[in-house]
Amino acid sequence: MCGIVAYIGEKQAYPILIKGLQRLEYRGYDSAGVALLNGSVKVFKKKGKVSELVYHASQQDTTGTIGIGHTRWATHGKPDDINAHPHTSGNGRLTLIHNGIIENYNAIKESLLNRGHEFRSQTDTEVLVHLIEEIQSQNNIPLEEAVRLALNQVIGAYAIVVMDANDPDKLVAARKSSPLVIGIGKGEFVIASDASPLVDYTKQVVYLNDNEIAVVHRNGELQIKTTNNELQDHKVQEINLQIEQLEKGDYEHFMLKEIYEQSKTIGDCMRGRLNASEGWVRVGGIEDSIEHFTNAKRIIIAACGTSWHAGLIAEYLFEELARIPVEVEYASELRYRNPIIKENDIVIALSQSGETADTLAALELAKDKGAMIYGIVNVVGSSIARVTDAGSYIHAGPEIGVASTKAFTSQVTLLAMMAITLGYRRGTIPKSYYHQLLEGLESIPAKVEKLLKLNDKIKYIASEIKDSSNALYLGRGYNFPIALEGALKLKEISYIHAEGYPAAEMKHGPIALIDEDMPVVVIATNKSSYEKIYSNIQEVKARKGVVIAIVPEGSTEISKIADYTIEIPDTEEPLTPLLSVIPLQLLSYHIALMRGCNVDQPRNLAKSVTVE
Ligand code: GLU
Repeated sequence: MCGIVAYIGEKQAYPILIKGLQRLEYRGYDSAGVALLNGSVKVFKKKGKVSELVYHASQQDTTGTIGIGHTRWATHGKPDDINAHPHTSGNGRLTLIHNGIIENYNAIKESLLNRGHEFRSQTDTEVLVHLIEEIQSQNNIPLEEAVRLALNQVIGAYAIVVMDANDPDKLVAARKSSPLVIGIGKGEFVIASDASPLVDYTKQVVYLNDNEIAVVHRNGELQIKTTNNELQDHKVQEINLQIEQLEKGDYEHFMLKEIYEQSKTIGDCMRGRLNASEGWVRVGGIEDSIEHFTNAKRIIIAACGTSWHAGLIAEYLFEELARIPVEVEYASELRYRNPIIKENDIVIALSQSGETADTLAALELAKDKGAMIYGIVNVVGSSIARVTDAGSYIHAGPEIGVASTKAFTSQVTLLAMMAITLGYRRGTIPKSYYHQLLEGLESIPAKVEKLLKLNDKIKYIASEIKDSSNALYLGRGYNFPIALEGALKLKEISYIHAEGYPAAEMKHGPIALIDEDMPVVVIATNKSSYEKIYSNIQEVKARKGVVIAIVPEGSTEISKIADYTIEIPDTEEPLTPLLSVIPLQLLSYHIALMRGCNVDQPRNLAKSVTVE
């Protein structure tokens, strides 16, 4: 959600900013802009894609070795050229880009209006740049001090970068609850919302913490202070991110690339953590807090979107294998009620980006209540990774497609390893089953590889149902969350209305919707409920529904009555979600493509939801 990129150094800033904004496009946005300082400040901004901004700026002077760039995901004021960032102060001296929401912007705006300020946009952001300018000009103080005093008046979430036309040798950046990383190159700095715009120039980074203000200087100096005016030491870290990971390679879309990567990424998640032939599984974060986990009275999982579905699978896994009670919560709900969280509870936050605003806030709440907090994230150095007591990375590599695919299967892989570990340590699974599960997990990547070969068949099924207006997804047990996830994938990228239901719930409502125009995707891979789901399919067929069944290899009964069947390789039941989700991802991908949708950047969606 929203992308920030800023540059100061010896090179021309504009191409670096544009390339950076393109790298950040995956986060989701509706308009883009840049400001460049070269004697005077020039601002170019445009509703729509970065390519439209480039076209708009193509005949203009874009020279300058300092500049800021932004992709906006509108929260206050519609997406248009005027509301796009950067925003400029009344006297034109300061330009600012902002990610987040200034919650008390109305009160600040009122008082600024009373003092004669005039605003051009409807954004909360413009209020902040006016406030900084007023403080700076009234007190005749350095920009960073004016930023600090202004931020002390602000309630809300922000990552900002400010540029001063009177000082072309520095940029000031600050953050609270929105990510910001500073890349330190040779004689240059690149500041961005995540590391993707920096990797071409440097691997040395400093992650800004909440309530910190950084000043980067053309002479290579970096100074960080808190909003309370305390000087901070900063730790320079090396990022492990390759440029190829950020590019599509031979694939038409990032989503397709990421679906195909799963045979590798699931293996990457297990690398060094599991060895079936030697009979061990070790998840670092768990080992470090094993007492906590083995004695836990309850695990609460806080997550949003696809991660929440991975959390639901974890509920089945932890309860069945480790016999620990689990509750799975939408982070946005957990944080705003008054939940009962005790000291011997463990709260696990699941988030691909590690920046999801609601999940972060839910964690803070759990921490205040004394629970141990554990983070499972993909992005190294992200906020959740830094605030938690312990945690694990899923090592899926950058996920650029907005619809999560490989991060989901890596989350489930990690959660499965955790559940198996705890089941074994707590003595709640027999040793033989423990070994079967390890072998099962280890063989998943090869089975994913095999499943991906069904792409053409799935494409054909997609062509048959692509014109539907609605779809129903049904599953049971471990595959009920996969029904939810399959429906979500279809909704988010093809804009077809889809619902996921526990198969048995069908009779309590959704069955009323079934007719010959309703495709029903049934995930029938659980051997323990095969007969039951067979009956559910009969019920759909009796009402002329079109059935697409995901079945275990060699299954004959369901294949006889379903319109289309997709077979998944045999595996232990708790591991079936890792396979059954793959055809559903491909199905959504092809349907969306056939409907002419933007698969990688679906409308209105953001990759990392950094505002609540
Ligand atoms: N609240 C700001 C706006 O609506 C920033 C939104 C963003 O994070 O892109 O302009």
